[in-house]
Amino acid sequence: MDPTQIMEACQQHIANTYGRQPVVLTRGEGCRVWDAAGRSYLDFVAGIAVVGLGHCHPKVTAAITAQAQRLVHTSNLYYTEPQVELAALLTRHSFADRVFFCNSGAEANEAAIKLARKWAKAHRGPDCYEIITMEHSFHGRTLATVTATGQAKYQQGFEPLMPGFRYAPFNDLRALEAALAPQTCAIMVEPIQGEGGVNVPAPDYLKGVRGLCDRRGLLLILDEVQTGLGRTGRLFAHEHFGITPDIMTLAKSIANGLPLGAMLATDAAASAFTPGSHASTFGGNPVACAAGVVVLKQLLEEGLLEHSRKMGEYFLGRLQELRGRHSLVRDVRGKGLMLGLELEVEAKTVVARALERGFLVNNCTDHVLRFVPPLVVTEAEVDALVAALDAIFLDLPRPVPTPAGPARA
Ligand SMILES: *Cc1c(COP(=O)(O)O)cnc(C)c1O
Repeated sequence: MDPTQIMEACQQHIANTYGRQPVVLTRGEGCRVWDAAGRSYLDFVAGIAVVGLGHCHPKVTAAITAQAQRLVHTSNLYYTEPQVELAALLTRHSFADRVFFCNSGAEANEAAIKLARKWAKAHRGPDCYEIITMEHSFHGRTLATVTATGQAKYQQGFEPLMPGFRYAPFNDLRALEAALAPQTCAIMVEPIQGEGGVNVPAPDYLKGVRGLCDRRGLLLILDEVQTGLGRTGRLFAHEHFGITPDIMTLAKSIANGLPLGAMLATDAAASAFTPGSHASTFGGNPVACAAGVVVLKQLLEEGLLEHSRKMGEYFLGRLQELRGRHSLVRDVRGKGLMLGLELEVEAKTVVARALERGFLVNNCTDHVLRFVPPLVVTEAEVDALVAALDAIFLDLPRPVPTPAGPARA
């Protein structure tokens, strides 16, 4: 099929749930992807914070290939080494004692919600089940996780939503405390909101949330599906804030593009799960876990975490310069290589123009461009994007000044 035929067949045969950019991607290497016509693009989307090691990282490809030649799948009724090796790496380098593997962020959050309810039934009583989540949060698209997601636009039409959730404004401890009720069993929060607009809380906010959980006997669930695994310059974003959760969810970049999710928990929380409590046919698949082991080793042993931290600082500095030059940039924010640019203009206009110039970028809200490149991104690649954005912003029609004189009828 030629690219036009592929796009037409997609319109015809694929469920209409995505607005897609008009490009058919066929190949990737590092921070670069190629389309069917052989044109290349620098990728600042990276599958939405998924391809952390860059496209087709040779060590990931080798691990996938080797595992695919040995054993692609077996049930969790049996043991496999890649799954155990990845779990050991995750627990050794985090607060957690135990890992439950699944296949996506939403599934990891489902597991966290189920664990919190089960734990509360055992430790707090039969009527304790409610989970507080934040306004502008994003936790996934299953019915429970879309209910946990504090944004009406994702929920409309899917009612009735799941009972047992309540929302509080993000980054507001007083409002959070006011939202607590006798039936509250957990607070679930992203350390930095991703889809909600790259929102970074005050430095002491998560410490306050942790304290509230401790005083009220609640579990703290951190959704690090987007922020985890080096994205913010630390292995996990909560390390910036000096706290640990009881439960944490990971997915996106954990296997550099293969479907894998994980729910990590302390023994105290995880002990609420016993054989039969929860399950996943594909969860912890050996091929995905073999890729995950490479991801963890690159971050921890091959200096990728340091590189991500340095590049995040460099990128942030360059975006701040851009803000200084263009009044249409309202705000620059984020941590590490999870950065956002809030604009006066519609961000999707900039997304389309960047594509024309050979850059993949995406907007998480109407006015916020979000940059989550592979963690291996270089200064030269950041410079190229910043130069393109500079040119795009100069080209955009200036907002028309309000004409002087009497208002027109
Ligand atoms: C992407 C995302 C999810 C959902 O992950 P899926 O793999 O799409 O189900 C959940 N939480 C956060 C914070 C995310 O960014």
